[in-house]
Amino acid sequence: MNGRTENNLIIYNQLLFRKSNSGEYQIIVPRELIKPLVIETHQIYGHCGTYETYQLLQQHHQFQSMYHTIKRIIKTCDLCQRTKVNNVTARGPTLNLIPEKPMEMVSADLMGPLPRGQGGCQYILAILDIFSKYIKLYPLKRATTDTVVRRIVNDYIPTMGLFQKILTDNGTQFTSKKWIRKMEELKVKSIHTTIYHPESNPVERANREIGRLLRTYCHKQHTNWLRWLDNVEFWINNTTHTTTGYSPQYFMFGKNIPLSITQLVAFPKYEPTNSVPDIIQIVMKRTQRKSKLRSEYKDRDKKFPKYAVGMKVLVKEDRLSSAEDHETHKLFLLYHRPYQICEVHDNNTVTVRDQSGHLRTYNFKNIKQYHEGDQPIQLNSSSEQ
Ligand SMILES: [Zn+2]
Repeated sequence: MNGRTENNLIIYNQLLFRKSNSGEYQIIVPRELIKPLVIETHQIYGHCGTYETYQLLQQHHQFQSMYHTIKRIIKTCDLCQRTKVNNVTARGPTLNLIPEKPMEMVSADLMGPLPRGQGGCQYILAILDIFSKYIKLYPLKRATTDTVVRRIVNDYIPTMGLFQKILTDNGTQFTSKKWIRKMEELKVKSIHTTIYHPESNPVERANREIGRLLRTYCHKQHTNWLRWLDNVEFWINNTTHTTTGYSPQYFMFGKNIPLSITQLVAFPKYEPTNSVPDIIQIVMKRTQRKSKLRSEYKDRDKKFPKYAVGMKVLVKEDRLSSAEDHETHKLFLLYHRPYQICEVHDNNTVTVRDQSGHLRTYNFKNIKQYHEGDQPIQLNSSSEQ
């Protein structure tokens, strides 16, 4: 190894690295490259949040006030502000069936009908391994017991292996005699979420994320969703999950898919400190703690924003795409262009001026603050390509 060591810093092949607590080396990012790096990573990984972007970058990069800098940059992403649902607080008792290892329990869920995509597909079958959060997404033409079972037997099990339990809602596909018989044949225990509070279903969170990604990429051309499905699956599996602290990919396969920096730059060698079995222990404790915290503080996270005259806000889209297709609505951007507040009333409403100069009054629950960037963030991966 060449170079010198001081405060864990070393120069290696003329580049500056820092040795992290886990023994890995991180490249020190020059100031002028921070913003393009953060924006690019955020966009390449499906407009993921601050936490996920931080987790991706900190594996191999380091810069000052890293988390806060990333947060500040991502906060101003225009597309994200218009597609992200406000923080939804989990309510009700959380599921008391926390699995203890990958592939112990999966959930299966159907989304749709969506705008008919290529080959007439209208539904998404999402199968989530509840412990690792590893997700597989399959497009379906029809949502029946047969089509779902066929995907599980012909595609899911051959790639991922057999699981012990399957959690579903009580849709007809998952309650039919055929479903019960098939699961018995596979020696899989079928569990329905209905006996629990619906929001305790771990699938809800995954669905929100899938919905957000489809809104981000398909809001202009709704039938495009099928083309983005593999990307959505990749993004979810390769970004760190806030509950587990690891990417589902890492869990399932013991390593992350390398970021482009590791292919461009030679990194000093290091020995990994935690093995996958250690990680399973760490994650089990973390998941149990989170689940306990969630049920203890249900409403504590609720934020009450303070609005003021002159502040810019986004207004929730209330138009449906068409009367008969409610689901399509999910693919619209959730929020309208920013408007400026003219007046704040004390009944939780504000008056804004719209683009044609008309005054409109909205309830707090239908608006959110808009954060402007110091310069517009270039979008290179929307559906226009
Ligand atoms: Zn974004």
